Amino acid sequence: MKMLSLVVGVLGVNCYIPYCSETRHCAVIDPGGNASQILDLIQKNRLDPQYILLTHGHFDHIGGVTELKEKTGAQVAIHRDDAMMLTDPEQNLAAYFGRKVIQTEPDILLEDGKELQTGNKIITVIHTPGHSRGGVCYLGEDILFTGDTLFAGSIGRTDIPNSDHLTLIQSINKLILLDDKIPIYPGHGRSSTLGQERRNNPFLRSREDTELV
Ligand SMILES: [Zn+2]
Ligand SMILES: [Zn+2]
Repeated sequence: MKMLSLVVGVLGVNCYIPYCSETRHCAVIDPGGNASQILDLIQKNRLDPQYILLTHGHFDHIGGVTELKEKTGAQVAIHRDDAMMLTDPEQNLAAYFGRKVIQTEPDILLEDGKELQTGNKIITVIHTPGHSRGGVCYLGEDILFTGDTLFAGSIGRTDIPNSDHLTLIQSINKLILLDDKIPIYPGHGRSSTLGQERRNNPFLRSREDTELV
């Protein structure tokens, strides 16, 4: 699946725009802010957004949702366990940063295994709780968008409300069963591959070392 990306919002979130090159339909993953820049990129590439897909509900990933929805008509999708975060600054943690982020209600509540058709391409939802209860990754055929679940060389924070370290590790163990060659595109920082992270990510290596003992 082809893809565009840009860094948006106050905490530098990677916003990804996977698209079908045949129909020009696209999804926008984690529009954390800078909605007008995202819209510019979409228009320049003659893309037609069908979905706004959220990896989870933290405020840094959702800042541009309402504006993008109003200007494109795309449907907002989030896992049901994070849905309340869109409209509640306490739940989406904006309040902890002295901010007030309130977005539109979601149109689609996601569950593990749900498939979303974008043009002639399928995006599959993988529920990966741990960083938040309703965290998900999106598998766009041969690329994986990992949100704040798995980063290049690191994993998501679990020192915040509604997070849990062991649950996160279990979720990542599910991901690394997929093909090593699959590139991962995290919510922050650079991209990697599942194989590279399975071998080199210190948070996953320590687990393997423990198992060997
Ligand atoms: Zn987060
Ligand atoms: Zn984040």
